[in-house]
Amino acid sequence: MAIDIINPYDVAVAQFDDAAERLGLSQAMRAILRKPKRELTVNFPVRMDNGDVEMFTGYRVQHNINRGPAKGGIRFSPQVSLDEVRALAMWMTWKCAVVGIPFGGAKGGVICDPHKMSRAELERMTRRYATEISILIGPDSDIPAPDMNTNPQVMGWIMDTYSMHRGYSIPAVITGKPLAVGGSEGRLEATARGVQVVTRAALRDLGMIPEDCKAVIQGFGNVGSIAARLIKELGCKVVGLSDISGGVYNPKGIDVYTALRYSREHGSLLGLPGTETVTNSELLELPCDVLVPAALENQLTKLNATRIKARLVIEAANGPTTLEADHILNDRGITVVPDILANAGGVTVSYFEWVQDLQRFFWAEGEINERLENIMQRSYQAVRRKSEEQHVNLRLGAYLLAVARVAEATEIRGVYP
Ligand code: GLU
Repeated sequence: MAIDIINPYDVAVAQFDDAAERLGLSQAMRAILRKPKRELTVNFPVRMDNGDVEMFTGYRVQHNINRGPAKGGIRFSPQVSLDEVRALAMWMTWKCAVVGIPFGGAKGGVICDPHKMSRAELERMTRRYATEISILIGPDSDIPAPDMNTNPQVMGWIMDTYSMHRGYSIPAVITGKPLAVGGSEGRLEATARGVQVVTRAALRDLGMIPEDCKAVIQGFGNVGSIAARLIKELGCKVVGLSDISGGVYNPKGIDVYTALRYSREHGSLLGLPGTETVTNSELLELPCDVLVPAALENQLTKLNATRIKARLVIEAANGPTTLEADHILNDRGITVVPDILANAGGVTVSYFEWVQDLQRFFWAEGEINERLENIMQRSYQAVRRKSEEQHVNLRLGAYLLAVARVAEATEIRGVYP
């Protein structure tokens, strides 16, 4: 069987086109918003522990900066490509607009396998990449953050590298930093906390009682592992979990705290006592009410969308659903809370971190979580109202809101010169 290679940038542009058509945007506006504003490719050498020098390729793409400085994470993965970074940058533009925070969209990535690199190699690669993209990044221009396989320590190295070049500390150049160097309370859990807020709201809208719901979460990184805990706290029974090595299933429920401990000790969820092992593709088709893809793009495809059992899909990952799968899920009456809304909690608290860094005035965790909850609630309700008004699904509702906001800013600023 031929395997379709799905290009995430094609998916992102098609989603935008759909919204642009409904909004009746002019041809000129469509042409402007379809393209990333800036794309930087960097090829750079890194000295490895054995003394050899290896070349790495990285990217930083800014999609649109009409609503504010560019914002978006950096991922380290062998699958990084320019088109993937372009798609992720465009999704960041809509994500910031849908929750109403004053940022444009960007993304960065380095093609590498961080699991095969030593800590020292990772640090040298990070610092050199940060130096290479320092012609774009800055507290007023483009503010990176963590994404797949990057963490607060990596953000700390980038903050230090940028600051070394300037001669003084500039914490606001990056978010998702450790607390000790200007990070924010609540940032680590923020994406998952936002996922929890929209899950609670969507369950209520669907008349589903959390205590009667079974949940499956794909991915056990920063987002998936914390989301599993917070979805359990909502009252749902977590029956399936997975990481890169595969999935674990127990229809009677998995204790998330035990799973967290087990994964930390064994480096994987596989073999978790009381669970049966399933493949990552079997996991998505398990009997459940709520499915939370929190891993990679293109996980729900035309090949498995007809077999998804969940009534509610919460896109904690970016771009987990292909265009065909989206139509199939829609036709089957499955509610999908789209990525640009569902996982916007991370960038929302990144915004709080940036504001705190600029003001040198830090807020308590309670205040951050309350503000996050308000923004996520408000944004979810606005998207739901828009979807009802226009008789469209939540994804298109979110796009209609977000694209209209970016188009308005782009229109007001006009075409220079
Ligand atoms: N990488 C995260 C995302 O995809 C967070 C971005 C940020 O905080 O700037 O939304």
